[in-house]
Amino acid sequence: MADPAECTIKVMCRFRPLNSSEVARGDKYIPKFTGEDQVSISGKPFMFDRVFGSNTTQEQMYKASAQKIVKDVLEGYNGTIFAFGQTSSGKTHTMEVRESEAYKILHASILMVTKNNLSVHEDKNRVPYVKGCTERFVCSPEEVMDTIDEGKSNRHVAVTNMNEHSSRSHSIFQINVKQENTATEQKLSGKLYLVDLAGSEKVGKTGAEGAVLEEAKNINKSLSALGNVISALAEGSTYVPYRDSKMTRILQDSLGGNCRTTMVICASPSAYNEAETKSTLMFGQRAK
Ligand code: ADP
Ligand code: MG
Repeated sequence: MADPAECTIKVMCRFRPLNSSEVARGDKYIPKFTGEDQVSISGKPFMFDRVFGSNTTQEQMYKASAQKIVKDVLEGYNGTIFAFGQTSSGKTHTMEVRESEAYKILHASILMVTKNNLSVHEDKNRVPYVKGCTERFVCSPEEVMDTIDEGKSNRHVAVTNMNEHSSRSHSIFQINVKQENTATEQKLSGKLYLVDLAGSEKVGKTGAEGAVLEEAKNINKSLSALGNVISALAEGSTYVPYRDSKMTRILQDSLGGNCRTTMVICASPSAYNEAETKSTLMFGQRAK
């Protein structure tokens, strides 16, 4: 088993500003920031490794939550950065900074874009792989960005009656970095996963039916499986239930061992979303 000291799991929380419809409705701004690592909602405190208020810039966010992981990946570690939260809470906005910043640093890499509903298989060494995903060899930051855009346009979006379109799928970008020291011929290989999770909102509020309801149930199942894996890792448990979902199987080699993992819990500051925000923050606390 890997030295637990080698495995770092950080859970951070970011509140976006009130959006225009929340302002127009006169929604109350509810989070109270009571320290670098604590926020309270209606008197209930939640602790994280770091908490970011609504005026946090993308650059501050990147520096505090991703820079170290990107550096470690370039030194041969595997890392994963997740964004978790309800639809419209700022997950994609938060991941986007990482994408552009991370790619500035990468020179040669292989990028794999995975779509929703792909099946997970195992090779003869029981290493999981995703069947039918797209893999691109890229040599420049521009090629990486083009591939990201291609992946985004493949992302399945279904409209529900939440304010905004709800992204009903997880988006996983895998970046492999392979380096060879030309003098010593020493090889280094690291992997970075950027995971923009599907909206975590409860099905009831979205008024989903039929296929969309089924999909929502599957998403809830995979998010709770992810929560179980992260909390087992954070507790240093000997049993980590990777096999309970496709996503955790795919991410297994980056989440275990000497992993570098950051989960950014994204939340709306509006009183209208209070129940959802509390359950989002509870999910993050469990993972800690
Ligand atoms: P999600 O991916 O969680 O559904 P988005 O990242 O798409 O949410 O954010 C919803 C909207 O709010 C977008 O228009 C986005 O630009 C805006 N937004 C999100 N977070 C912030 C932030 N921290 N500051 C300013 N605008 C934000
Ligand atoms: Mg999104």
